[in-house]
Amino acid sequence: MSVSLQDIFAADRAIRPYIRHTPLMPSASLSALCGGEVRLKLDFLQDTGAFKLRGATNRILALSAEERARGVIAVSTGNHGRAVASAAARLGIRAVIVMSALVPQVKVDGVRQFGAEVRIAGGSQDEAEAEADALIASEGLVSVPPFDDPHIIAGQGTLGLELLRDWPDLETVLVPLSGGGLLAGVARVLKSANPDIRVVGVSLGSGGAMADSLEAGHPVEVEEPQTLADSLGGGIGLNNRHSFEMVRSLVDCVVRIDEDEIARAMAHMFWHDRLVVEGAGAVAAATLIAGKLPFSIPSGHRIAGLSCGNMVDMHRFADIVSTHSGMSIAGS
Ligand SMILES: *Cc1c(COP(=O)(O)O)cnc(C)c1O
Repeated sequence: MSVSLQDIFAADRAIRPYIRHTPLMPSASLSALCGGEVRLKLDFLQDTGAFKLRGATNRILALSAEERARGVIAVSTGNHGRAVASAAARLGIRAVIVMSALVPQVKVDGVRQFGAEVRIAGGSQDEAEAEADALIASEGLVSVPPFDDPHIIAGQGTLGLELLRDWPDLETVLVPLSGGGLLAGVARVLKSANPDIRVVGVSLGSGGAMADSLEAGHPVEVEEPQTLADSLGGGIGLNNRHSFEMVRSLVDCVVRIDEDEIARAMAHMFWHDRLVVEGAGAVAAATLIAGKLPFSIPSGHRIAGLSCGNMVDMHRFADIVSTHSGMSIAGS
């Protein structure tokens, strides 16, 4: 296994000065809805609005002095780019962020705000990656990948350490799933502590590259859809070296969430839990609201849902929550 529990403890020691231990908030409305005891891990409360600061900070702290002098480059749908920009700025390192044209303006602005250079390249994550490879060759920049890297996975795993500390007897965890860095790291921790903890990956309905790859038995390419959960789009890399195998061996099941379910969950979290999250930050709640867990939930079953990003265009958000303002749910 490419990332061990020790690696995750080492990441925790390294990144702690830069990272918040985020709250695990009980959700009365989601608990009433599904009959379990539901708590939401609010990791969008990191400074950059997403958990990706954990992995990016751990990766950049591990660079040699010579690599730091060359600067870093990342290909990102937004939250990873923001995290790399922020971590690099704190350590005084040059950062170049390459994005596909599908990325919402709010996320482009979010990266520029940290002083990183932004390059927009192509209509897909894969085209953006080709542009980054060219810049690595021509300018000597060091790549900070979004998920398929042991330091990134170990950094994301620190979220699992917090979960375990705050709720040692949790039984099921719902993890938004894209490239699988988050799920791999968190599952590594939880399964080491207790193999009976159920780890559920929550993927896009269509365009979920990891879900499709798990079904195929090997990494596959996907079409990139326009989705509210844009942080969950993008491929896992046909040459995936770490996250695919880790997710495959650690995850118990994967559910797929469609667009309407994401919108409803964003509205639910706003009206009932008073939270503002992006689409990817609502998919764990969507799993419960849509009744998509593939097992029945015993009364009081302890379920943690990870909500890891809030980079949403607020005009779009206002439209979504007003469209779904008539939601009436037991326990509200
Ligand atoms: C990146 C991201 C995810 C998925 O993380 P992976 O490690 O790519 O699986 C989930 N939620 C948010 C908000 C993200 O930015």
